[in-house]
Amino acid sequence: MMKLLEALETLARQVVPDIGNTPLYLVAASEPGLPVEYRCYGCRAFTSTWLDVGLSAWLKDQGRWQGRGPAIVVNAAALRTEAATDADGDEDFADMLFRDRLTAVLVHELGHVVEAPFDLTALENFDQATTEATAVVHEWVTTDPPTRQAPWHGHGADWLRLVIHTQH
Ligand SMILES: [Zn+2]
Repeated sequence: MMKLLEALETLARQVVPDIGNTPLYLVAASEPGLPVEYRCYGCRAFTSTWLDVGLSAWLKDQGRWQGRGPAIVVNAAALRTEAATDADGDEDFADMLFRDRLTAVLVHELGHVVEAPFDLTALENFDQATTEATAVVHEWVTTDPPTRQAPWHGHGADWLRLVIHTQH
C-alpha cells in the first residue's frame, strides 16, 4: 500500500506543482491503526483544509508527520473491490479500472486542495486541535445531517476549472 501511496504522491506533485515543498499526506482508509473516523464510510476519498490536523497524532505514530500540509484519505480498498467486481474476472481490466478510478479520485480531491488555500497555520494547542478535528469527522460519519448538501455542493466553476487544468 505504501508503494501505491508514494506513486500517488509523485503524480499529485507532478500535476499540481503548487504543492511545492509543502508536506502532502496521502493516506489509505485501510491503513492499520488509522482512527475509525477516517475510514471513508461510503465514500471514495475526502479532504479538508484541516484534515492534516486531525490525522496528525496518527501520522506522528507512523513517523510520517512533517508539519502542516494538505491531506487526502483515499479508499483504495473499496476502489480495488469495485474494479474487480466490474471486471468480472478479467484481472488486467480490473487493474486498469482500479488505476484509472484511483487517478480520477485523486484529481477530484486535488481540485479541492488547490481551490482552498493551503492552511499551514501553526496552531498553539495542536493536541487539542487534533482532538477537535477528529470530533468533527466523528460527527460527520455518525450523524445524518438534517440539511445534507447536494452532491454538486463544493464542485463549482472554480473547482471544475482546476480539475480540468490538473489533468493537462
Ligand atoms: Zn468533491
